[in-house]
Amino acid sequence: MADDDPIHVMGAGLSGLAAAITLAKAGVEVHVHDIREDSGKRFDGDFQALENWSMDVDFFDQLRSWGYDPSEFKATEFKVVDLVHPDDKITKTQSPKTAYRIVERGTSHDTIDQGFKRMAIAAGVNLHYKSRVKEEDCQIIACGPKGTSAVAYGEIFHTRHPNHIAFQLNDKLAPGAYSYMIIIDGVGLICTCLWRKQKGSERFLNETIAWYQEHYPDIDMKPVKRVGGKGDFTINKNYFQDGRYYVGESGGLQDFMWGFGMRMAVWSGHLAAQDILGKCNYEKEVRKQLMPYVRTSVSNRFLMNRVGNRMFKFMCNSWVKSQSKKGDGLIWIGKLFRPKWYKTMLYYIVSPFMLKPDSKAMGRGVRRLPFRKAKKRDVWKQSENAQMVGERWNHVRRSGGNTSFDESSD
Ligand SMILES: Cc1cc2nc3c(=O)[nH]c(=O)nc-3n(C[C@H](O)[C@H](O)[C@H](O)COP(=O)(O)OP(=O)(O)OC[C@H]3O[C@@H](n4cnc5c(N)ncnc54)[C@H](O)[C@@H]3O)c2cc1C
Repeated sequence: MADDDPIHVMGAGLSGLAAAITLAKAGVEVHVHDIREDSGKRFDGDFQALENWSMDVDFFDQLRSWGYDPSEFKATEFKVVDLVHPDDKITKTQSPKTAYRIVERGTSHDTIDQGFKRMAIAAGVNLHYKSRVKEEDCQIIACGPKGTSAVAYGEIFHTRHPNHIAFQLNDKLAPGAYSYMIIIDGVGLICTCLWRKQKGSERFLNETIAWYQEHYPDIDMKPVKRVGGKGDFTINKNYFQDGRYYVGESGGLQDFMWGFGMRMAVWSGHLAAQDILGKCNYEKEVRKQLMPYVRTSVSNRFLMNRVGNRMFKFMCNSWVKSQSKKGDGLIWIGKLFRPKWYKTMLYYIVSPFMLKPDSKAMGRGVRRLPFRKAKKRDVWKQSENAQMVGERWNHVRRSGGNTSFDESSD
């Protein structure tokens, strides 16, 4: 490539736009191509959390230091969350610091996707939507998930309930994972994540919603739409190969344990651009800055795959205990996410068995976390309340309620 050749980016999501902004600001001609009609179209108004616990530096300070402006999108800061134990006990975890920020994904004005798009336009990036390009013709591959390792389903609703967040560890409602409820400014989302492949996966969402309705009787839900998507968790032998940078979810740069990926998406996009500008070596920096977290999360996922509600209860108790001792709920969760030598060792021992080679990865040596099989305990009869939730949704759907995610985990 000559120095003044334009850079082509495949995917106008967070990682692709982050890379493009940094490049365009440095005067490089950048073209970003996306098969969908807009940035954020992969999502449809769902809320996601920008975690702020995995390192000491605040994520928004990181964003500013990389040249991105977090005031371009709406982010609601929270310092407290209801922690729902598997036996339905609800405790509060809190922190004097910003524990996390909730952002909206999608195509409406306030979303993080549109915020990054506005920054890209201002920097002079050329955006091409509904544009199909070949991987071979691009220098940065930022097109999100290819395979499926896990899925998440949610229902968006209107409510008069004040802003509130609840996070639930419950292996029945969210096999191998967690469910959550987020309410911001009159809009709510109840979501369940499935880390095991299920038949009739909608019943998990219906049962989860029924649970929240019972335990938060004031949420007064008026369902609007159902949203969701798949997550792809991979380890790549190379992150830069044949002249191409693999960033964000395309590079598997995500938290394998619980699916947090936005921070690493922006981070890796920025690093790829820095390499193109001659300021760092992407492969080296990904291995130094991001892989320790990814490896830790693989070990965490390995352990999560082996436990059920009894261990989830133990985790909740130790979280609460740590908070009352240290006065900060972020310390316990931060420790869980931060790299440790024994988690790195565990990673090297278990990853050859846990991850399966992806034969379609153009010789990049990609190994994927497979979507695990259901367990016997995942088969149960829906409660009457959950059936009513399902019927209520069917009624909304018949009157025009949209499901943005039709790829069920069945
Ligand atoms: C339901 C759900 C909930 C989540 N919740 C959280 C959360 O709370 N916190 C968190 O940090 N992370 C969360 N994640 C993960 C997070 O969304 C991803 O890690 C992040 O969006 C990855 O960014 P990316 O730039 O790699 O991909 P994206 O932001 O998804 O962008 C990829 C883009 O590539 C485009 N594209 C796809 N194929 C092609 C192609 N062939 N050619 C051109 N363009 C293409 C897509 O249209 C899309 O615009 C969640 C994921 C899901 C599915």
